[in-house]
Amino acid sequence: MPEALETHSASVLADPQSRPSQGDEDTQRVNEAIGRLVGRLLDDVPTDPRATVPLADLLRTMAVEGTHVVPDTECVISVVPASRPDIFQVIAASGPWAERLIGEEWPLHEGMLHGRAMLHHVAVETANAPDESAAPEVFGSHIRIGRLVPMSTGTPLPDGRVGMGVVGFWRPETRPFTDTERAIMDRFTRLISIMVIGDDARESTQHLVDRLRLTGEATRELSASLDPADVVQAIVERIAEIVDVDRITVTKFWPDSIEAIAGYDRSRPPARIGARWELTPELRSAIDSGESAFEGFSDVSGMPADMQEQLSDVRRRVMLPLRAAGRVLGVLAVSRRTDQAFGQLDLDNLEQIALSAALALQNASLFAETKEAQQKALHALLSVSDHLDSNASEADLYARFAGTVAELVGARRVTLWRLSTDHTLLMPAAAAHGVTARDFAQLQAVPCNPEGTSLRDRVVFGDAVFHGRAADLGMSLESNDLSGSTAGTVAVAWRAGTVRLGVLAAHDPIKPDGFSDEDTWTLQLAAFAAGLVWQIKDSEERIRTLGDAEAQRLIEHIERTRSMEKMRSDFLKLASHELRGPIGVVRGYFSMMQDKSLDAEALEHAMPVIERKLNEMNALVNEMLETARLEEGLTRLERQPQSLREIVAAATSAIQPQLSSAHQLDVRLPGESVLVNVDAGRIETVVRNLLDNAIKFSPDGGVIGCHTTAAQDFARITVIDHGLGIPPEQMHRLFTRFSRLVTPENSHISGTGLGLYLSRELARLHGGDITATSTPGGGSTFVLTLPIWSGEPVD
Ligand code: ADP
Repeated sequence: MPEALETHSASVLADPQSRPSQGDEDTQRVNEAIGRLVGRLLDDVPTDPRATVPLADLLRTMAVEGTHVVPDTECVISVVPASRPDIFQVIAASGPWAERLIGEEWPLHEGMLHGRAMLHHVAVETANAPDESAAPEVFGSHIRIGRLVPMSTGTPLPDGRVGMGVVGFWRPETRPFTDTERAIMDRFTRLISIMVIGDDARESTQHLVDRLRLTGEATRELSASLDPADVVQAIVERIAEIVDVDRITVTKFWPDSIEAIAGYDRSRPPARIGARWELTPELRSAIDSGESAFEGFSDVSGMPADMQEQLSDVRRRVMLPLRAAGRVLGVLAVSRRTDQAFGQLDLDNLEQIALSAALALQNASLFAETKEAQQKALHALLSVSDHLDSNASEADLYARFAGTVAELVGARRVTLWRLSTDHTLLMPAAAAHGVTARDFAQLQAVPCNPEGTSLRDRVVFGDAVFHGRAADLGMSLESNDLSGSTAGTVAVAWRAGTVRLGVLAAHDPIKPDGFSDEDTWTLQLAAFAAGLVWQIKDSEERIRTLGDAEAQRLIEHIERTRSMEKMRSDFLKLASHELRGPIGVVRGYFSMMQDKSLDAEALEHAMPVIERKLNEMNALVNEMLETARLEEGLTRLERQPQSLREIVAAATSAIQPQLSSAHQLDVRLPGESVLVNVDAGRIETVVRNLLDNAIKFSPDGGVIGCHTTAAQDFARITVIDHGLGIPPEQMHRLFTRFSRLVTPENSHISGTGLGLYLSRELARLHGGDITATSTPGGGSTFVLTLPIWSGEPVD
């Protein structure tokens, strides 16, 4: 882009009141062309802000508009598809020659004009397209002149593509482009970039949503099959469907070795399940470093020979540690036999899958533990299983369980006692069998001690079996009729594995000779089953919270990419909301002029209105373009040592027309001149933005302070108002893009929500900053700091 032009478009917020110079006139023409374009675009924007316009439709409109904003051109919009980064494809075009290209694709390389524009991120211009392109046949007999402007995102594309696309302007005659036309093309392309970025974001969001779905399915598969191997194998096959790879191996970690637990291979035998080899120091240190993915390693050398052989022709390899709950459980290794590198999008996808796989592994081992316990206690379970309805509440479950136990051992009553977490109390559990509500309420917690030697302690902590009177255990059941019986109670420990849960006790045997040995044994099995019930409930709970935490991370990731998509729709909403008004006014006058219903006198009155509306549109379009430029890192400051007094004076005089009679402006300047090395136009804009807001958000008037001070290395401009203020919970959004903080008090005040964002970014580019404090209902104070210039003073 020619230097002179960058300067023009840099002075974007040129004071509309100053007399236009030649440069300003050009800028004005560029701005008006873009303003008109945005106006026409709005016809396509649905009035319902929730509706979105399909990108293809917008780009079609844009291609047509491209031929209007730069007269006598044909316009071609091409993009690089995320799925095929090595080509570009024409997706929209306008003009008799250009339209024939829609849908065509070409390889992306230096030989192509498009390739040059994208690979070097510069606009490419040609006066003889067929001679300069590797595909001369495309241009036919009369297309020679062209300018190709690359779309840009500012930041590199996450999936490793070199560019998003190019907007091409072609002229079927030999008249060269003017500088003004070039500036229009460049800005036009930036508008298109904003739209395309949004769509890219949507696509990447879609990938993530698919990943989340995968997590859901993995969990479901898991509950259908309790075998970890099945689940992991299912995940591996899903990966093969989603990411283009030749081989996948999932390995599990043992303290000093790795074991293959699932595998897939497109053309050779997959990893042998159960094969083990040593964990190399190299792999161990890569995992310890905490990376989420790293390239393949030489652990291949330690593998069994058959697996080494299967990997011999692999060209690309990525390993992802499977981490769950802070532990590395294994590694997911994916390989390609082609030389196609894993791009960022592949890595993102694989990371999400690794999360699911780790979750599945973790879940699977929890289930496996439970399953093992289950088998051991099959017998006990069988007798109580009818009642183990997992949907029942815990109290309900134990009540039914106690009933079953009572039947099995022939007891009139059964009680379940729960050990407190600090192991000092045995408390009646929420349910019992055969105990009236009144009696149950009278049951008291009993103290106990893990170190103790009492009978009770030996039952709770040492698996002793108790035969005797409940009173001897400290259980207050004596008050009832049958407590006199000597062998009235049998009690056993209730535990799950090594976890001590409490005591299960049967009281008041039905049989005259009391509880038999067999009853005791049954009671022990029942206690074991009760332990199992507890364990299943507990592991379900653990799986649920674990699943929630991982799902939360995925959701956060999705939110981040969605915010890019939101940027596009915010842009359109803003454009439709803020531009519809002024465009409507100007259009109204325009049609009156056309049908001559506006006489000379009325026209005289209309002109200032039209001018004001055009200026409003210009300012908005400029703010949007300045935002786009900032984000692309294209902002170039025209810095020069300047007197801060002059900048403040220019800003305060520019905002005079906004002041109502209720407002008083209190400007305080330092006695001595303070020099700052800044882009004066931009800093003036920043100060004006702060003053504009102070006035706008003080609808009842009051003093607006603008105080300039200098201390040490920094100068400060403090803008103080006593207006509406900002709610504390919204302060953190103040300087973000599109941050209109709407409250009932300020909802009628118009704005773009770009001013403060731009102002702070500009202040920071100058080595300064903006901070804000505010009291709702009391007013706000914004402080702009700028480094003082310490070099030679200038005249
Ligand atoms: P705009 O004023 O165009 O909406 P800004 O980025 O300048 O955009 O400001 C963002 C939001 O911050 C405003 O919409 C408003 O809610 C709030 N705000 C900014 N300055 C003030 C102020 N002086 N007093 C109260 N609210 C303010």
